[in-house]
Amino acid sequence: MVIEMNSRKTIQGIHHITAIAGSAGENVAFYENVLGLRLVKQTVNFDDPFTYHLYFGDQQGNPGTILTFFPWQAMSPGRNGAGMVTATAFEIPVGSATYWQERLLHHSIATRSEQRFGEEVIRFSDPHGLPLELIAAGQPAAVANTSGNPAPDYSIKGFHSATATLTSLKGTSALLMNSLGMELHVQDGRRYRFSMKNDTSRGLFYDLVIDPKAAKGRQGSGTVHHIAFRTRDDEEQLLWQRSLLEDGYPVTEVRNRKYFKSIYFHEPGGVLFELATDPPGFAVDEPPEHLGRALQLPDDYEHMRSEIENNLPPLREDAASPLTAS
Ligand code: ZN
Repeated sequence: MVIEMNSRKTIQGIHHITAIAGSAGENVAFYENVLGLRLVKQTVNFDDPFTYHLYFGDQQGNPGTILTFFPWQAMSPGRNGAGMVTATAFEIPVGSATYWQERLLHHSIATRSEQRFGEEVIRFSDPHGLPLELIAAGQPAAVANTSGNPAPDYSIKGFHSATATLTSLKGTSALLMNSLGMELHVQDGRRYRFSMKNDTSRGLFYDLVIDPKAAKGRQGSGTVHHIAFRTRDDEEQLLWQRSLLEDGYPVTEVRNRKYFKSIYFHEPGGVLFELATDPPGFAVDEPPEHLGRALQLPDDYEHMRSEIENNLPPLREDAASPLTAS
């Protein structure tokens, strides 16, 4: 494969990944109590205001750390397969893999370990079947997670990478390298790792696993809905929109998602891509210290607040009691 250096701009890393879950309560319990992420925003699906849209991330909700969910209690399980992001990987500090394996085991979560490009990878699934990975790649961190959960030195700081399963490489690799400015970083067998550039961000790798025989994925609980990549601001987003349209990709109009602005298109392998702006971020409608505590609604739905609140399930069994590590 020819590696083409791109003289144009390059995409700036993973912004967020959005997946589908079952019960909202089970979703919150797992990501807060087991993985130790912060619920940085509870809002509703802007296209379906009677269902939640939950955002988990680091303490500030920085781009590159955000895993979001549409939880539907009655959603039937999907099937992870071709044309989807089939693994979402968080970075953990080198030296913390044993801690995390024991922690997951304690919560009755089965794990598998493997080496990938010289790094230790722990593979497991969330309660609704979403494939997750913890990759020991970061330096041991000294920053405490204010919830004290998990142990501060070992806490997740953001994404490491995401993996998509595709039946063919060609169309998608052309998009990643020629239109999005990624580089082929390393390859091992069927896995091709593409890299993005940003000195301050996590989530700078996007892996393709090529399996011509892979069954097509089917969306449902436990599957990724889309992956979003970072753009600096509105102006840069419009440049991306124009250049992608020129390259023949059917990019949507700009949509205001309140916490960022977004454009979308399906990449040739079938994965739904989004390009999302870094600003304004999650502190646009509640102070940083209160992120995620109260249901936030877009202005269009404020007049329906009581009806919406009465129809959403509780996120925690007893919202008054503090969450504790087990
Ligand atoms: Zn999104």
